Amino acid sequence: MHDLLLTQKIAEIRPEIDKIAELTLSDTPLADLTTLHLGGRPVLTAHCQSQAAATQLVTLLDAHSIPLLIVGGGSNLVVADGDLDLVAVVLEFDDISVNPSTGVIRAEAGAIWDDVVSVAVDAGLGGIECLSGIPGSAGAVPVQNVGAYGAEISQVLTQVCLLDRATGTVEWCPASSLELSYRYSNLKFTGRAVVLGIELQLNPDGLSAPLRFGELARVLGATEAGERKPVAQVREAVLNLRRGKGMVVDPADHDTWSAGSFFTNPTVDNRVADYVRRVTGETDMPCYPVAGTEESKLSAAWLIERAGFPKGFPGGDARASLSTKHTLALTNRGSASTEDLVALARTIRDGVDEKFGVQLVPEPVWVCVEL
Ligand SMILES: Cc1cc2nc3c(=O)[nH]c(=O)nc-3n(C[C@H](O)[C@H](O)[C@H](O)COP(=O)(O)OP(=O)(O)OC[C@H]3O[C@@H](n4cnc5c(N)ncnc54)[C@H](O)[C@@H]3O)c2cc1C
Repeated sequence: MHDLLLTQKIAEIRPEIDKIAELTLSDTPLADLTTLHLGGRPVLTAHCQSQAAATQLVTLLDAHSIPLLIVGGGSNLVVADGDLDLVAVVLEFDDISVNPSTGVIRAEAGAIWDDVVSVAVDAGLGGIECLSGIPGSAGAVPVQNVGAYGAEISQVLTQVCLLDRATGTVEWCPASSLELSYRYSNLKFTGRAVVLGIELQLNPDGLSAPLRFGELARVLGATEAGERKPVAQVREAVLNLRRGKGMVVDPADHDTWSAGSFFTNPTVDNRVADYVRRVTGETDMPCYPVAGTEESKLSAAWLIERAGFPKGFPGGDARASLSTKHTLALTNRGSASTEDLVALARTIRDGVDEKFGVQLVPEPVWVCVEL
């Protein structure tokens, strides 16, 4: 059951909510809004069809201290089962504007991110083709500084239009104000602001960003470090690679009922990296020294596999399992609950810790549930 006091508070402001234009209300559960197809029922689900609607609703809820969850594409959320004491605010405004001669693209928060990439590639703009096929919304890409195949949104993001929840102001802010780093911004886990729109500066010369990722460079036949290729060719290659790993959402394929990479790649002291190398006896383990430190970044997928968790683990008729295509994706096989998924996540995390002394940290945002 939902918290009675919260239900009452929402009922009291309901007439004000009803006055907001371009806003529709429903009782949609999070399971219908997340790529894991998991998550319980909020007190209210509000679908905002304009920036103004989102701004008015979030400001109103904040003024009454009503907990809320901003939802884009739901592809980076692990949400508790059952009744959720919050309002889900779904962003559905989705304009995309492109200037092919300057390379500037603006997208509203609710635009599907891969549509933004597709529009950019069709206009011959380079810089985000390596981020093809990442599910979710444009507004969420700064939240965890999305990245793939050697590219990160921080490389092209110039400005974000933010609703500052402490002050209620809406303004365009420089990307530098977000402190973007590996799978992090100061928006992630804080909810301090709502991203209403993003601006990217892309390259109008029709070529991709320099290819930095070995596997992608290889399939594109790049021979020199940092070579650039036509954007459409790179997008196609990225989509093919991602499909092979179950990293493009396909409702018919349970390997894609996930939140993408479930754990971040851990950065560890070099002595720990040496220990892992010794324990596994694999001299060529993926290990990337972090410049200027005594630390190295390891591959979470590799650690999971070497700790004894193969693709598809635990197999059989398990309701939640590792993807059969990639050990870093925890998946719902169709009838899982969040509890099933979290139990699997604990098994994996503890197994890696026991074997290697490396603590894996989850990448998605957790709502009303903990690992
Ligand atoms: C199959 C698959 C593959 C993936 N591959 C990658 C990958 O290659 N690289 C990568 O970086 N990620 C990847 N992800 C993770 C995910 O797609 C990204 O993090 C994506 O940007 C999340 O967008 P979303 O709109 O779905 O966010 P949601 O899941 O809806 O929200 C995630 C968090 O951001 C907040 N949020 C969402 N929108 C806004 C907004 N407008 N303003 C403020 N806060 C907001 C939410 O409140 C929540 O805290 C993958 C996920 C899946 C399922």
